[in-house]
Amino acid sequence: QAKNNGRNQLHGYSSDLSDVLAERMKLEQQLRLGIEQDELELHYQPQLDLHSGKLKGFEALVRWRHKDELRSPLSFIPLAEECGLISRIDAWVLQQACQQLVSWQQSDWPDATMSVNVSAGSIEDGSCIDLVKQTLASTGLVAHFLKLEVTESVLMRKPDDAARTMKALRKMGVELSIDDFGTGYSSLTYIKRFPFSELKIDKLFVDGVVHNAEDNALVRAIVKLGQTLNMKVVAEGVESESQQTILSRSGCDMIQGYHYAKPMPAALCDDFLATLARKRVSAYAALDEVSPRT
Ligand code: C2E
Ligand code: MG
Ligand code: MG
Ligand code: MG
Repeated sequence: QAKNNGRNQLHGYSSDLSDVLAERMKLEQQLRLGIEQDELELHYQPQLDLHSGKLKGFEALVRWRHKDELRSPLSFIPLAEECGLISRIDAWVLQQACQQLVSWQQSDWPDATMSVNVSAGSIEDGSCIDLVKQTLASTGLVAHFLKLEVTESVLMRKPDDAARTMKALRKMGVELSIDDFGTGYSSLTYIKRFPFSELKIDKLFVDGVVHNAEDNALVRAIVKLGQTLNMKVVAEGVESESQQTILSRSGCDMIQGYHYAKPMPAALCDDFLATLARKRVSAYAALDEVSPRT
């Protein structure tokens, strides 16, 4: 009935609107079903530590495998946030990512970290505190290997609630990272109020770091800012060797991007890790050959 009312009132362009609504409802229904039927999957993107030249950890990125398509989180996370499905996605992603990290830590990578994107809502309403607590307990993951990524928008909407949640998470030992830094509208005063230990420079700035003087200066400024506030700085979306070199010289701590590795399903990450481990072994072997024997 409400729908009919809307249709009459919006006579003229009503069909466009109801098409949009119908499309949305269909998508929501599909997603609800998809979650139940295990259609979500996680891909993991390796991060490189620029100081040691070694693998630092991973960021978990969700995808939705629907029929023959692999859908980007950008196509369904905003919808999930609006229709309340996001809490189930958050819970599933966190559990899956922590479980996977424990398995990699036990195989050959005891210090690897896992970054997980959390929705603004679960920070604002505090629900991620219990969720994280339960997930750490059930997987046995040590808290400080887990990094929760939040975007600047979280800081603006309900800053007091967000700050309270973040302090509780820090108390548990979990690390907090500010994602897509520079693309939002938060002021420096805001950043200072929150217990972030990491800052991620958005790809937008990284894209121009080699050829655009302004972007280059901005990246340097952001790195300085991070260092001043005692945060580790990660550059996102690094696609070339020259970008990596400049970032490294600017004092950036870590990079993530296609240049080092793309986001991959767990099985492909296993292969990636196996290759790294082989290189490590052969590097030691080479060292052994040149060092004098006793
Ligand atoms: P984000 O957290 O900033 O993730 C980085 C995005 O950049 C990812 O896109 C990643 O695939 C992409 N990327 C990484 N390196 C490169 C590169 O070198 N070149 C290019 N062109 N792209 C690169 P993705 O996976 O599509 O995720 C988009 C956004 O969706 C994420 O941005 C994050 O905000 C959100 N998201 C992803 N997974 C989750 C999740 O599990 N929960 C929530 N709440 N949000 C998520
Ligand atoms: Mg992220
Ligand atoms: Mg980002
Ligand atoms: Mg993003």
